[in-house]
Amino acid sequence: MIDSLKKEAGGFGARIVAVSKTKPEEAILDLYNKGQRLFGENRVQELTQKYDSLPKDIEWHMIGSLQKNKVKYIAPFVDLIHSVDSTSLLERIDKEANKNNRKISVLLQLKISEEGTKAGMSIDEATTICESTASLPHIIIKGLMGMASFTHDQEIVQTEFKSLSKSFTHLKESYFQDDSNFSELSMGMSGDYKLALKEGATLLRIGSLLFGSRY
Ligand SMILES: *Cc1c(COP(=O)(O)O)cnc(C)c1O
Repeated sequence: MIDSLKKEAGGFGARIVAVSKTKPEEAILDLYNKGQRLFGENRVQELTQKYDSLPKDIEWHMIGSLQKNKVKYIAPFVDLIHSVDSTSLLERIDKEANKNNRKISVLLQLKISEEGTKAGMSIDEATTICESTASLPHIIIKGLMGMASFTHDQEIVQTEFKSLSKSFTHLKESYFQDDSNFSELSMGMSGDYKLALKEGATLLRIGSLLFGSRY
């Protein structure tokens, strides 16, 4: 599965984040031994435990909602935080990155779905952040992330991905013309990754398709 998926994504210039939440370390090592190095987790405690015990050349992405008081636990090692949904969280990440003498790469998570439960900031808040990146010297804004509605209606999902993709292009042209860092668009999961690829995703967050269902 991982090989064909990688090939399919690679055809679009996209990479796979293997979402290993709730899965044991053996399952991660299985994929690791097939060459996968990029993994995503959605809970801080699970992420730090797996970071501690698994090979150090794994690139770890935080993809789940993140509480400010837990940033300090992942700040020393996390490679990319997909789920930055507020300015105050971003300020905390900047502070913890400074303490660790490093820069931390992030994606701004935009709310693209009408569903009340889906987290994310508005395009206005993201715009304000992009206007004032100089005040966050330990942050590298690498792009945007979004989650589509949980629905079988492909048209709704496609509309949401299109809107995220448009926001990405708009922000890039407005604020990051000379900054090649702003290059990642994280959208698409097991159920909707094909649409996401069509709409310009560069990072697919794939869990159940690789590891089996979590239930
Ligand atoms: C669990 C999760 C995924 C992966 O979901 P699958 O449907 O199993 O591929 C992607 N993104 C986020 C934010 C998740 O929490």
